[in-house]
Amino acid sequence: MTDDHSESQTLPEPLDVIAVGAHPDDVEIAIGGTLARLVRQGYRVGIVDLTNGEPTPGSPGPPVRLEEARAAAEILGVQVRETLTLPNRCLFDGFFERLTLARLFRRYRPKLVLGIAGKTPMASPDHWQASQITDAAVFYSRLSKWDDEFGGLPVHTIRRQLWYPLGLHSLDEPDGGGRFVMDISDTLAVKLDAIRAYKTQFPPGKERVFRLVESQNRYFGSAAGFEAGELLISTTLLGLSDLMGALFTETPALEKPFPPLVP
Ligand SMILES: [Zn+2]
Repeated sequence: MTDDHSESQTLPEPLDVIAVGAHPDDVEIAIGGTLARLVRQGYRVGIVDLTNGEPTPGSPGPPVRLEEARAAAEILGVQVRETLTLPNRCLFDGFFERLTLARLFRRYRPKLVLGIAGKTPMASPDHWQASQITDAAVFYSRLSKWDDEFGGLPVHTIRRQLWYPLGLHSLDEPDGGGRFVMDISDTLAVKLDAIRAYKTQFPPGKERVFRLVESQNRYFGSAAGFEAGELLISTTLLGLSDLMGALFTETPALEKPFPPLVP
């Protein structure tokens, strides 16, 4: 444990966005295209994996998985990746876990945090725990009069939080304040390359995963008039102050009428 002074003196350059997953590859599968696009738009983006995701059947161990995660982050172009040491397979929402993530938020001071949306039935229960830990850590990050728990790290208020659905089977997603699709037409290929960096998780025999991810992104994208898209859920109602700016973005696909699916 460092003292108050050294914690605050060693604060890194702030990030604009932090995306939190339970395991290395969660974030890439769900919102890799969104993160790659944010980086290309000039934002500073970080990924936090709450666990190292190991053990898994196809991986020889944590060092290999960590190297895959590093390579995936490099492909996306994100500035920071932190893989925490909370336990895979038995991750639980608890005070220590919340505080661990909240300390990291206070260090990197993001404006926006993206967390997992709800449960992932038939997949790892770690995802639901990660969702709750993230929600709590966003709140803890802004609480004053709690310096003992934060080693002098300054209070930081995260201005926006979004949820991202994870997995291809679940329809059990929180309603939140509204759903919208992020255009990833230009970064879908980068996203798929980043997922391919996890060679131990997605060997040639699991090529189906890439078809499923791409199909989902094509489906969501088509529904919004893009070549490809990722679904995001706002935790609060989204308000607009520039209606025309929001509806008529610089995205070329939106500048022409959406072609009717049925002629
Ligand atoms: Zn996972």
